[in-house]
Amino acid sequence: MSNVSGLTCVVCGAAYPPDYEGYVCPDHGNEGILDVVYDYEQVAQTLTKDSLAQNRDSTMWRYRDLMPLSSTDSVPPLTVGGTPMYDAPSLATRLGIARVLVKDEGRQPTASLKDRASAMAVVNARSRGADVVTTASTGNAAAALAGISASVGQKNVIFVPASAPEAKIAQLLAYGSTVALVDGNYGDAFELCMEAAAEYGWYNRNTGYNPYMTEGKKTAGLEILEGLGWEPPGAIFVSVGDGSIIGGVHKAVKDALALGWIDRTPRIFGIQAEGSDYMVQAFESGEDVLTKPPIAADTAADSISADLPRDRIKAMAAVVDTGGQYLRVSDDQILAAIPTVARGSGVFAEPAAAAAYAGLEVAVDEGFISSGESVVVLSTGSGLKDVASVMKAVSAAGTVPMHVAPNLASLKTELANRKEPS
Ligand SMILES: *Cc1c(COP(=O)(O)O)cnc(C)c1O
Ligand SMILES: [Zn+2]
Repeated sequence: MSNVSGLTCVVCGAAYPPDYEGYVCPDHGNEGILDVVYDYEQVAQTLTKDSLAQNRDSTMWRYRDLMPLSSTDSVPPLTVGGTPMYDAPSLATRLGIARVLVKDEGRQPTASLKDRASAMAVVNARSRGADVVTTASTGNAAAALAGISASVGQKNVIFVPASAPEAKIAQLLAYGSTVALVDGNYGDAFELCMEAAAEYGWYNRNTGYNPYMTEGKKTAGLEILEGLGWEPPGAIFVSVGDGSIIGGVHKAVKDALALGWIDRTPRIFGIQAEGSDYMVQAFESGEDVLTKPPIAADTAADSISADLPRDRIKAMAAVVDTGGQYLRVSDDQILAAIPTVARGSGVFAEPAAAAAYAGLEVAVDEGFISSGESVVVLSTGSGLKDVASVMKAVSAAGTVPMHVAPNLASLKTELANRKEPS
């Protein structure tokens, strides 16, 4: 028994029943993304702030009554969700604002936020009796699907650009997925995966297509709100590629408002790389994202490189409806943010994750955040995902290790000559 009352098309509002097995509104093709609608009165009978406070399950499934699961669905054994959110007073001081919190999604089982969506996908696929699950990905969604699938023995086929960072490809291979390295970019991998899914009848986890991915990702937003005692921060900073995570954070806010758990809306800020700034362009120009053509994305932050953000309708609503902003940051600003966040909070972020903090710096500079505000930075994935970029970042920051002979005299000489890092 689930609390889902139906699905609605984000383009035309057409309603579909809870057991609808399509992915999109057929009248709007791949753009007709569906939003899962809940019977909040029914949710409130079993899920309340108090019941949550007493629930010892700290995984994402603590919110299962607010997710598209039936009571008989069993969840994968890997611990997904319950990631820490740290106060980073030195970052707050640096920025001149009241409070900065960093939520570390690098702590997920496959080291990115994508585990939340892929776990949801695997539950849904299994409840439909799917034989094979597939996705295209810049790397993290794939690693997440591979890992969660491995934990339950679910067959899966993965499409990633051949240029994906090695660590992400290594994860896929270790987990035993069937891996197609596509000679092309994420857009090409996505199109091929969509065709293959249709051809072979595979369960399709693709971002900005499968409506349930938002419902998995929103648990990060619910954790942020619950972690702050349901006192929303002034702003939440989220990096944006396909726009699915930001749509999920928005969904968490809408759910919490509908259930009366919060009484105001945090502004949601979407941060993009300047070489992959489709949403920023549309936000600035007021262009309709339904008709705006793809761009040619190029950024070092591979996880947010998207020619055409697949979840762009929900992604635009997240910022516009909450009074936030879309902002762009350069690759240099993104790389510089990796050591800044690491040194200022202890959280080790991959480029796409550090982009959210880089965006916070821009927002403060441009006067969008006032000095009394508390903000949350969602750090979406671990720095171990892309060590090559981290090495570039520390070298650009002027960080040099000492090279010493294995004796104390050599160490003493080097320490005496060493300039303290700035
Ligand atoms: C996928 C991903 C993003 C962007 O999420 P979208 O839903 O595509 O906007 C950001 N950071 C990391 C680490 C990711 O893996
Ligand atoms: Zn429609």
